[in-house]
Amino acid sequence: LTLLGLESSCDDTAAAVVRQTTGAKAEILSSIVFGQTELHSAYGGVVPEIAARAHAEKLDSCVRDALAEAGLTLGDLDAIAVTAGPGLIGGVMSGVMCAKGISAATGLPLIGVNHLAGHALTPRLTDDITYPYLMLLVSGGHCQYLIARGPETFSRLGGTIDDAPGEAFDKTARLLGLPQPGGPSVQAEAEHGDPERFRFPRPLLDRPDCNLSFSGLKTALMRMRDQIIAEKGGLTRQDRADLCAGFQAAIVDTLVEKTRRALRLYLEDKPQYPTLAVAGGVAANTEIRNGLMALCGELETDFLAPPLALCTDNAAMIAYAGLERYKTGARDGMSLSARPRWPLDKTSPALIGSGK
Ligand code: ATP
Ligand code: FE
Repeated sequence: LTLLGLESSCDDTAAAVVRQTTGAKAEILSSIVFGQTELHSAYGGVVPEIAARAHAEKLDSCVRDALAEAGLTLGDLDAIAVTAGPGLIGGVMSGVMCAKGISAATGLPLIGVNHLAGHALTPRLTDDITYPYLMLLVSGGHCQYLIARGPETFSRLGGTIDDAPGEAFDKTARLLGLPQPGGPSVQAEAEHGDPERFRFPRPLLDRPDCNLSFSGLKTALMRMRDQIIAEKGGLTRQDRADLCAGFQAAIVDTLVEKTRRALRLYLEDKPQYPTLAVAGGVAANTEIRNGLMALCGELETDFLAPPLALCTDNAAMIAYAGLERYKTGARDGMSLSARPRWPLDKTSPALIGSGK
């Protein structure tokens, strides 16, 4: 089975071709990602109208490049998969329109994909793992625990009630005058900082559930920063490093502790091959990875982190999620619509409520 996938839900325009022969794993024949970071950098965030226009302009060439790199033509494909939500509606619509156009012109079946399902299925694309596995999706916009039970069946155990960790890293970098994206620059500063000097809050740890909160961290950081400035007139390099280290330690502790709870719930299912997989840009963080790996060692669970290029937004994961839906017999016609909101535990346009 060979599918073309399209992704345009945020600030990356992407097209990819994946092929599956046997098992769960698939081969990525091509994966083109065209980032829009420069287009939005002057505005301090993604501007939806600019994003939608850029997607509409870039999608055709991304598709052409993806096919060329795979050495295929549209006639070699079995279906076309496209992100139908959740995301910025203008961008999602650009992708859905493009996919409908190709489908109408070629007769290829059209498969709508939930972007979050794309992230959540990535460990199967790369590593052939079996259901059910626990997924921690940590990115610039998301933080949630999901038990993946099937290509369209996810149980959400909990997640952030406010900011995503990536957002918190980015805000911290902004408050300390460090370059964007904040994750890598805060991590680099934290390497020579003392995590004990500043004590950041660990919100919601007193509650037994798997929900997290990260918005209090930036308030705490701002207070600490302003206090140092009031006392000493400015921040030294060491102050900055210590603030980063304290901030990062709070995120790691919170994620590890909540993951412990999510793993306990997941292990109640007695999965044959217990696995925790992570996805999303924040999964690149070394301290977070180390913390989660140690926890998995303790709880005798495999730990899996796909390569970073597949953790951040890409179309290979969309093609793959489409492929898995295709195999269940799912087909979406011209009535496929773009959905700005689309929680993963009510996942398929055709199978609303299929999640446990
Ligand atoms: P979403 O996929 O939820 O819509 P997004 O596309 O913005 O959001 P990603 O591209 O998955 O998110 O990840 C980007 C985020 O990852 C940024 O917030 C960035 O700061 C963060 N990030 C990248 N590397 C690291 C790191 N080493 N440590 C912490 N955070 C990191
Ligand atoms: Fe994403």
